[in-house]
Amino acid sequence: MLRLQLSPCGFDTIPTVSIEFKIEARDGSARCGRLSTPHGEVETPVFMPVGTQASVKAVPQDILEELGVQILLGNTYHLYLRPGVQQVRRLGGLHGFMSWNGAILTDSGGFQVFSLNELRKVSEEGVTFRSHLDGSSHFFSPENATEAQIGLGADIIMAFDECTEYPAEPQRVRESMELTLRWAARSKKYFEEHKHAVPWGKVSSFQFLVSSAQNTGNRKPETGNYQALFGIVQGGTDPRLRRESAERTIEIGFSGYAIGGLSVGEPRSLTREIVESTIEHLPTDRPRYLMGVGTPEEIVEYANLGVDMMDCVLPTRAARHGLLFTSEGKISIKQARYADDAGPLDTNCACSVCSRYSRAYLRHLYAANEVLAQVLNTIHNLSFYLDTMRRVRHSIELGRKTRSLSEVWSLRER
Ligand SMILES: [Zn+2]
Repeated sequence: MLRLQLSPCGFDTIPTVSIEFKIEARDGSARCGRLSTPHGEVETPVFMPVGTQASVKAVPQDILEELGVQILLGNTYHLYLRPGVQQVRRLGGLHGFMSWNGAILTDSGGFQVFSLNELRKVSEEGVTFRSHLDGSSHFFSPENATEAQIGLGADIIMAFDECTEYPAEPQRVRESMELTLRWAARSKKYFEEHKHAVPWGKVSSFQFLVSSAQNTGNRKPETGNYQALFGIVQGGTDPRLRRESAERTIEIGFSGYAIGGLSVGEPRSLTREIVESTIEHLPTDRPRYLMGVGTPEEIVEYANLGVDMMDCVLPTRAARHGLLFTSEGKISIKQARYADDAGPLDTNCACSVCSRYSRAYLRHLYAANEVLAQVLNTIHNLSFYLDTMRRVRHSIELGRKTRSLSEVWSLRER
């Protein structure tokens, strides 16, 4: 087992742990792992539901727990603008504020600045942007984006990066990659100097390390449990730049590595090619996080390539628009053909929605614009994604080399 972020103090106790990552099974390039965070264990490969505003839209936290969500994602950009980092910090960080005891990952805000702000201005120092809420001017740098993420208190936080647009000229991609590398070093420096300021440091570290000590003998727990900082590999769609970005990000040294800057308009075959070639240059013993993907078919495919963590707004956003993913393909529940359909949404799905409600009822709720439509549709879609990942993990454990969504869903239940 790899222990990351050793204690700088040299005490004769167990090291100060932010996260641990243990690989438990391999099947070709795919691997099953266990990521231990200060707020619980995460089985990988994992799909992380997106909770943009400290809320996975339409689903309360107790239902996320019932669905088996072990980690969810928050967006620094949105939480920084509203309600504000200091307010979240005063209320116990994101875990306390939203009453979520599982693991949380926050992004650095870079992607939202990129995608929501056409008027952003990028300089060596950082990015000036306007709030999409009220037009006010703000500035993100590697230092203050990291400071914001320490204040929000997620278990895993991301280095501040520039997401390069697609398509882009080769010179522009290189310059952007170089800027991201300089920002990565600044993010890490700030994090190392300020990581003790995390809102939950003392309490949670005690609980976590007591349980670790119980598992590892009689060594005394020490206080001082921190977040884990991940670096982000950029480099556009050029495999050579991706390699260089990976190697130089690894030189800076992070607890895990993300592949960023994909799913920004490039063809999906190219996304896959770049993911595959980038993974070759990432360390095998650290978690690999592919940001912002994908469809159910794609998450199976990327897990098979050796990706450990993924997130996407697709299952939740599509659900709110009546687009539901099933083991037999997509369903647009708004269609009149479902008006008399007394069957469940997906006969293979064991979720609370499929066990109880008919397609006809779901179609009626959607047509009548009932709030419950959004709730039920989102619960099903999230359940489908999480169940797909459970099946992928099972397939990897069995060494089945299942390569597609339909193969994964035709595997017998354990
Ligand atoms: Zn279902």
